[in-house]
Amino acid sequence: MPAAPFLTDVLVVGGGPAGLGLAAECAAGGLSVRLVAPHPPRPFPPTYGAWLDELPAWTRACLADVWTDVRVYTGERPTPLLRPYALLDNARLLEALLTRAGLGLTWTVGTVRGAAQVGERWEVHGLGGETWHARLVVDAGGHPGSLVRPRHAGGAALQTAYGIVAHFGTPPSPPGGMVWMDYRAPQLSAGACAAPTFLYAMHLGGSRYLVEETSLIARPGLTRPLLERRLHARLAAQGTPPHEVEREEWVAFPMNAAAPGPGPVLAFGSAAGLVHPVSGFQVAGALRDAPEVARAVASALARRGPQAAVQAGWAALWPPERRAAREVALLGVDALLTLPGERLPAFFGAFFRLPADEWRSFLAPRTDAGTLAATMLRVFGGAPNTVRASLARAALRQSGASGRALLAALSGPAPATAPD
Ligand SMILES: Cc1cc2nc3c(=O)[nH]c(=O)nc-3n(C[C@H](O)[C@H](O)[C@H](O)COP(=O)(O)OP(=O)(O)OC[C@H]3O[C@@H](n4cnc5c(N)ncnc54)[C@H](O)[C@@H]3O)c2cc1C
Repeated sequence: MPAAPFLTDVLVVGGGPAGLGLAAECAAGGLSVRLVAPHPPRPFPPTYGAWLDELPAWTRACLADVWTDVRVYTGERPTPLLRPYALLDNARLLEALLTRAGLGLTWTVGTVRGAAQVGERWEVHGLGGETWHARLVVDAGGHPGSLVRPRHAGGAALQTAYGIVAHFGTPPSPPGGMVWMDYRAPQLSAGACAAPTFLYAMHLGGSRYLVEETSLIARPGLTRPLLERRLHARLAAQGTPPHEVEREEWVAFPMNAAAPGPGPVLAFGSAAGLVHPVSGFQVAGALRDAPEVARAVASALARRGPQAAVQAGWAALWPPERRAAREVALLGVDALLTLPGERLPAFFGAFFRLPADEWRSFLAPRTDAGTLAATMLRVFGGAPNTVRASLARAALRQSGASGRALLAALSGPAPATAPD
């Protein structure tokens, strides 16, 4: 008689921070977990930054740097954000997650091509002809998903950025600090401001800096050659050309995923639409969500079986109030996409003039719909008239429920005077 196939409680597709984060919490909670990824454990390739206060406390041991001098430039003068910003050390983060997982995690190198439910269990199929068996499956396969497909109303709107880590003879950004957003554009002709980009920069110590020319959100996304040209033109215009380039980074991912419908496969991380639609952040939120989702899954699996466990996972990840908040945030995305590019710096000027707790909660992963809508109204009220007129026209142009909702959000009482 052939041996019964090895059955794990959970199979996680994907070895990014979300997949490993959830796998580690499930394993730490006593579940047997197989993680399938095309690569062995390796430090996550992208540069991950996050607000320090949004990271779980245990990640303090996994930080490469923390800046207290954090600024934005929406005009010539800097706005200090007075909120520490952290750079994750991806090798230490990987190590911490593997340690947390312990022996309950099996990392399998492979690529998942499909999965089928057979009775109370799943058969998951790999490109190399493998079959893995699990009681429930989690798709953490990144932005495109592997078994689930994130939806983007109107098509994916992308954040794109081209960056370098390099040594500089003259600092390209304030030494000892980080610049979250610098919309000054000495290198751009007036016409180019229709597709504005900003500098995101970190001083990494000594003469090393990370500098990235970033398009916050655009449909279609800005291309790598364009952003690369703009970055070097900016650095030249500033008189701060790089001397020795250590590495390049290309960033491209969708920002406008809708809340996913709860299907038979649980999703997590960017595959579950968890990228913040205005900032593009996801990692800190996934690391915070992972323990709660793992607890919900483990408890339902023990008491009510795998199908209930998947539903419990979805309910923990996307409760109704978070779904409602996503709808509101996507209205904000629609407004940003229709705002003429040259008005974006003034829009963010108004945003960062809000009281700190308001702009912070707007960028947070779990803020409720009412707070988001109230903040949008405050930004509208505090924005220059040119920006307000563009936003109102954008709302009028949008047909259907989202246009009506955006208009309703914008038609509340605004301050009597707004700068122009
Ligand atoms: C360059 C870059 C920089 C970013 N910077 C930040 C930042 O500073 N802060 C922030 O919060 N967010 C940032 N993001 C956005 C987002 O948080 C990241 O994309 C993050 O990596 C998403 O994590 P994830 O685990 O969901 O997916 P990913 O990190 O994309 O991991 C997906 C995993 O799934 C695997 N996989 C895919 N398909 C299959 C399959 N069929 N079978 C098996 N395995 C599969 C992949 O190999 C990978 O291991 C950045 C994105 C990029 C691209």
